This record gives sequence, structure tokens and C-alpha cells, in this order.
Amino acid sequence: MQTKVINIKDIKIGDNNPIVIQTMWKDHLTTGDLTDIIHKIDTLAAMGCGLLRFAVPDLGTAEILGELAQTVSMPLVADIHFDYKIALRCMDFPIAKIRINPGNIGGKDKTATVLEKAGAKSIPIRIGVNAGSLPGDLQERVNTGMRPALALVEAAEREVSIFKEFGFTQYIVSMKASGIADTIEANRIFSERTDAPLHLGVTEAGPLIAGVASSAVALTTLLKEGIGDTIRVSLSDTMENEIIAGREILRASGLKAGGVKIVSCPRCGRHGFDTHGFTNRWLSRLYSLDKDITVAIMGCEVNGPIEAKHADIGITGVGEKVLIFRHGEIVKTISREDADEIFEEELSNL
Ligand code: SF4
Repeated sequence: MQTKVINIKDIKIGDNNPIVIQTMWKDHLTTGDLTDIIHKIDTLAAMGCGLLRFAVPDLGTAEILGELAQTVSMPLVADIHFDYKIALRCMDFPIAKIRINPGNIGGKDKTATVLEKAGAKSIPIRIGVNAGSLPGDLQERVNTGMRPALALVEAAEREVSIFKEFGFTQYIVSMKASGIADTIEANRIFSERTDAPLHLGVTEAGPLIAGVASSAVALTTLLKEGIGDTIRVSLSDTMENEIIAGREILRASGLKAGGVKIVSCPRCGRHGFDTHGFTNRWLSRLYSLDKDITVAIMGCEVNGPIEAKHADIGITGVGEKVLIFRHGEIVKTISREDADEIFEEELSNL
């Protein structure tokens, strides 16, 4: 779907630009040494996270986010509710974008102040409408039969009209519901009526499996119709898994080729090698590789050697031993205990 393009630092969102995957920091930001946080942000970037959002509930958090924004290259987004002064303070730092909901920021004059500063600093804003926090009148209409998707669209259009009133054009819109059908319908309707880039997501999607399943259905449906410019898979799970899920949804939608493909067996009573444990330990590392490769992680001789042979790098149990393949050839026969260390060596040589 043709949309206008919004520049978020070096990233372009909208129109035919690549779909950007994002996630949200899951912990409170507290003062002190930021080394671990910076390291984690670097890992998320290597895994494919293009934008990272932080909740900023108070001015103290704005200071910490500001420090991070001055340190890392990842574009950081400040998510602000209720207090426009927090948004103003965040914009004193090189943050990439803010997310506000004009409906709860304290009135039009406060919104105007935020928009003025954002405009002067070329900081785009996401208008985030959520089915769980609709304006009171729309919620009442939903309670008496209005389709939730129509309420989401109307809420978004109200917010957009405020931005337009103040001449602010650098915005992205999201309309999120926990229902798949509502999410799809709201975004379809809105994309017909506007050229604003859309951030897609199913809100409160649930724990890992339920969340990935519902997000995959909703997002894949929309993305295949050309709707959506940036995505977040919201999970009651890790940021890393949100990024991996986002990548796999883009792959399933035909919007991302290449990268690391992991072929791993489900494990059964025959296994000589614990594919579950190994895959979990290596997941973030493998998804951080900037390579177009297939990695096979297999449990036993039934399917292991064949799958491992067809991969760029494969590891499989065979009886008491573990074999490592590279490009179809067995390069090491090792014990289970040495699997991680030797696999790392072989991966580095790939
Ligand atoms: S490869 Fe072996 S361990 Fe893995 S599922 Fe197949 S039979 Fe079971």
C-alpha cells in the first residue's frame, strides 16, 4: 500500500521501504551502570531489531533514556502517557521517535506544545490507539454494539485530526486490539483512508505460543495485502523472542529472504543429543549472525545425518556421539559435553 515515508533517524518507514521490526524494553530503567543494557541493545540490533521502545513513566526515566540515546546507535523510542513534560524532556536528547496518545496527554494545548517541539527537532510521533484504552464515548458505543474495529479507526482519526490541526505530518499510526479479526479490520479500513505508515501489532497477544500464533495470523494477513510498515509481536516473553517472531512472520509473508534458517528436530525417545537445550542456548547467537545459512540441529541417526548434510552447518546425535557437518561433510565427531565449544569453533569458520 502506498504511504508517505517517515524518516526515523537513518531509517525510512513507509511505502516500499523494508518492514521494520521493533520490540519494547521490558524492565524499569534504573540509574546506575548501563553496560548490561547497552550490551543487550547491541544484541537486539544484531538480531534484527530496528527500533526499540521504552516506557517513560517519569522524568527520572527520561534522563536515563536520554543517556542511552546518546550512547547506542539503535534508534530509541520514548513511550509517554499522561504527562506532556516527559515528552518535552525526552526530546532534549537524540531520541528517534515518541509515542503518545493525544487523548491522555492533558489537552490540546499540551499536545500542541509537544508537536511544536517534535516538529522543530524533526522527531516523528506514533499515535498509538489501543482497544483497551478507547475514549469513553467510543467504549460506550462498543458496549452497545459498535464494532471494535470501527471504534479503533474513529479513535485514530480523531488523533490524526489533532495532528493535522497543528500542521504536524510526521506521524505513524497503530490500532491494536487483542482480537485478530478486529486488528485486521481496523487496519484494512484505515489504510484505505489514509497514507500514514502503519505500525502493526496484536496487543496483549499472550504467552509465547498463543501470542506468536495470533500475531502471525493477523500480521501475515495484513502484510500480504501490502498493509503495514513496521511490526511488533507483543508477547509475555522475551524481547529476543519478539524479534525472532517478527523475523519469521516477515519470512512467512514473503517479505524477507535470507538470514539464518534453523532446522531442528522436535526430539523424541530416540535422541542421543538434546536438541531442545542446544537450540535454546544458541537461538539468540544464531539469529544474530549476518549470514544466509541453514543450521540443522538434530537428535539422532534417524533423520539427523541427512538433515545435517543438507545444511550449511549441522549437528546431530548418533548413538553416544555427536557429529558436526559443514557443507555436507562430517568435520568432527565429538562427545556431547564438547558440543557447544566445538560447534562455536566450526560456526566461526563457516
Ligand atoms: S531426529 Fe531422531 S530424535 Fe529427532 S525426532 Fe527424529 S527420530 Fe526423534
